[in-house]
Order: sequence, then structure tokens, then C-alpha cells
Amino acid sequence: MTEVVATNQTILVVGGGISGVTAALETAECGKDVLLREKSPTLGGRTALLYRYFPKLCHPTCGFEINLRRIKSNPRLRVMTLTEVIGIAGTRGDYTATLRISPRYVNENCTACGACAEAVETTVDNPFNYNLDRMKAAYLPYAMAHPQRYVLHPSIIGSPDAEKAKAACKYNAIDLDMREQTIQIKAGAVIWATGWRPYDAARIQPYGYDRFANVVTSVEFERLADPHGPTRGKILRPSDGNEARDVAFIQCAGSRDENHLRHCSRICCMASLKQTNYVRDAYPGTGKSTIYYIDIRAIDRFEDFYARVRADATVRFVKSKVAKITEDQKTGDVILHGVDTEGYHRYANRHDLAVLAIGMEPSVNAAEIPAEIIADASGFIESAPEHSGLIGAGCATNALDVNRAVQNATAAALRAVQVVNNVARAEA
Ligand SMILES: Cc1cc2nc3c(=O)[nH]c(=O)nc-3n(C[C@H](O)[C@H](O)[C@H](O)COP(=O)(O)OP(=O)(O)OC[C@H]3O[C@@H](n4cnc5c(N)ncnc54)[C@H](O)[C@@H]3O)c2cc1C
Ligand code: SF4
Ligand code: SF4
Repeated sequence: MTEVVATNQTILVVGGGISGVTAALETAECGKDVLLREKSPTLGGRTALLYRYFPKLCHPTCGFEINLRRIKSNPRLRVMTLTEVIGIAGTRGDYTATLRISPRYVNENCTACGACAEAVETTVDNPFNYNLDRMKAAYLPYAMAHPQRYVLHPSIIGSPDAEKAKAACKYNAIDLDMREQTIQIKAGAVIWATGWRPYDAARIQPYGYDRFANVVTSVEFERLADPHGPTRGKILRPSDGNEARDVAFIQCAGSRDENHLRHCSRICCMASLKQTNYVRDAYPGTGKSTIYYIDIRAIDRFEDFYARVRADATVRFVKSKVAKITEDQKTGDVILHGVDTEGYHRYANRHDLAVLAIGMEPSVNAAEIPAEIIADASGFIESAPEHSGLIGAGCATNALDVNRAVQNATAAALRAVQVVNNVARAEA
């Protein structure tokens, strides 16, 4: 294990999603030394996997481009990807973080020319499309990835494919001798921005996600709508590749449910309202959406967005918690069963595709973070004691939209700056 010494003035940011990037930039731009560590091969987190952002329906890459420019122009901010923080010990002003660095097998010489990807034959599941398609085992995670550097999948190391990739690279960028490393670093304050993950849809048995091809999750639907996604932006049914023109959205899938997540995931109403736009735009004149909901949670300025979708003739609202989904085995259609609570009549409604507005849970359960963090019942970071230098940010603290995640991360940055300033003052 290598020991990397940093000072008690260093701020460590764990997680390179929009919250971690925001917190890292805000602290570095206050003149602090900042280490930003991300476990995947690229910055961006889950927002990079969205097609468009509510409420403005802009592309997530727009705002991210500005952040990348700020990162590149700030020498105080040092970014490492493929680096997972696996442990934190210590107290305010004196933390030691243990980091596991996975090999990329590609060094800084990489120009992202793509020749290695052309040379290899092996394909692997593509996590950047939620495994809906496969990608070459030499890959750039997505077009805007940062760093713009290819990755070799560990499964080909030691195989002829790895040698083919190396032979194809004209820039001496492939290093097959890279190995996993574990190192330790010191920090005076830690911002914990490890974000969220979608609830495991297969656990909601009545909805048949693990049995019916045409039941997908809302995060997968983002990829289906995206021109860079597995269907090149065409909303097609996984079962037969036919156009999905009649789409059902099922709210509270896994949320507000004693058997699954007890909390309201707060984002999924807005996500489904947004996704009805994808259906309408993909199939002008014929695309239609039905939202099955208990109640719609669209707060503040999102209320206007909701009102616009309400007024859209292509969108129907059914006030009902869907009881179960069955499949027409001949056609692959999904049939939703339940009771409409506005008319109190039973329905069995047929659709091309069902989208589960899946709940959000913390990607790291705060109760498992080995430091003085207080977790809420769902595993989000609730707070840290007053004296702590370990501060939660973004969706590690709650299910938040991007705007609120950024606000929350900016507040975390301010607290981290105060922590290291107070440590310096106490030592003076
Ligand atoms: C279907 C759906 C659609 C949505 N659409 C919108 C929308 O249109 N508009 C909007 O405002 N919001 C939307 N959201 C919410 C949005 O995705 C979140 O607000 C955003 O992802 C929060 O960013 P974050 O950085 O907090 O977390 P994340 O995006 O989850 O980033 C966390 C990062 O931390 C990294 N990480 C985790 N553990 C470690 C570790 N131990 N060490 C190092 N790195 C680690 C992860 O790899 C990840 O990159 C949507 C959510 C859903 C479910
Ligand atoms: S590793 Fe080499 S071949 Fe592959 S993209 Fe980078 S420069 Fe091109
Ligand atoms: S945001 Fe809407 S869909 Fe999501 S859990 Fe809350 S009420 Fe249900």
C-alpha cells in the first residue's frame, strides 16, 4: 500500500457526478487544494446518462462543458478517475482515505483516435446504456467523457485482443502492465458526493421487470430516447424492435412502499412528465402517453412544467397505483391492471411499453460510511455532527434534481472551506 501525503488543508471530494464536480470547483476556486476522486472511468455521474434535463429540456452536456472548462483551467483541482474511495478514518483536520485505483490500461498519450476499438473483437455489456446493448472491450465511455481517454476492459487483458489493441495504437498509449493499486491520502475535510442508484426493479415482482421484455425503467428509457443510446434515439420495444407509440408510465415504482423504499424519490414524477415529451416528439401525431399516478409531486417552478404536460392532448392521466402487469404472449404488449380511484372502476389497459418510474436510493448507504455521519432511515446522509469535517453533498443526502443537487453541493463546499480554515487558524 502506497502512502500519498497531502496536508490537512486538502479537501477530498468523493464522487465525480454533478454534485462532486460542483463542490470540487467551488472549493478550488476559493483557493483550496482539492482532490476529486471518481470510481468510474469518467466524470459526469448519472446526469451524463440522461437524454434531456427538465425543466428546460436542454441536453445535460451543455452545462457540463462549462464545468469541464473550469476544471481544466484550475491547477488546484486534481482529478483522478477509476479511483474508488473504499474507506475513511480520522477526524476533522486529519482524515485518511483509502483509495482503490483500477487500471485503465491506457496512459496520457491517448488521443481518443479509436483505432484500438476497431482492432478488438470482444464485446462487453455497456453500462453507459444500462446494459441495453454491448460495446467493444476497448471503449470511450461516451462522447463527452472526461478524460477523453479510452479504457481497455479487464476481461481482455492477457488475451490476443489486448495485443491487437496495443498493436493498433500508434501513440504508445496502451500499457498492459498496469495493475490495481491501493493507496492512502490525507485530507482536512471530505465532501461525500457518491450520489444515487436506481432501485432494483426486479424486486417489484407484480410489475414483471425480470419477466417481460417490454417493461423497462425510467433510466433505461432515457437511453432509448437518446440518439447516442442503444436504439439511436428511436423508442423501440425491446421484445421485437417495433415502434413503441403507446407508452405507460408507472409512478412510485418501488418508492413510497413499505416493501421497498419508504421515501418519495421526489424526481420521478418530473422525470415521467419530461419523458412524455420524448414520446410525443419521437412519433408526432401518433405518440401517446398514459401516466398512472397516486399524486403528482411537482414543486416550485416545476408546477408550470406539469401544467404544460397536463394540457398536452397526447398525455392521459390515470389516478391509480397499478396493481400488476401481465403480458400478451402473442404480441408482447403489456397489460396494466388496477382500479382507477377517480371512477372506482377496474381496468386492464394494453400498451406497447411500460416504463417504471423507478425510485432513487443512495449508491452508498450512509450507515456504512466509517465516520461520524448520521444516516436517515433510507441510508441518505442526514447530517454530520457539528464538529465533523465529513460533509454530504447532492444525492448522497437525498433524492434531488440537478438544480437542488448543485445548491446542496455549493453549501457543502462552503462548509468544507470553513473546516480547513478553522483547522489552519487553530494551528496558527
Ligand atoms: C429517470 C431520472 C431522470 C432524471 N432526470 C432529471 C432531469 O431531467 N433534470 C434534473 O434536474 N434531474 C434529473 N434527475 C436527477 C439527477 O439524475 C440527479 O439530480 C443527479 O444525478 C445528482 O447528481 P449527483 O452528483 O448527486 O449523483 P450521481 O450522478 O449519482 O454521481 C455520483 C458519482 O459518484 C461516484 N461514486 C460513487 N461511489 C463512489 C466512491 N466510493 N468513490 C468514488 N466515486 C464514487 C459515481 O460513480 C458517480 O459518478 C433524474 C433522475 C432520474 C431517476
Ligand atoms: S489507446 Fe491508442 S488507439 Fe486507442 S484511442 Fe487511445 S490513442 Fe487511439
Ligand atoms: S416523485 Fe412522484 S413518482 Fe416519485 S415517489 Fe414521489 S410521488 Fe411517486
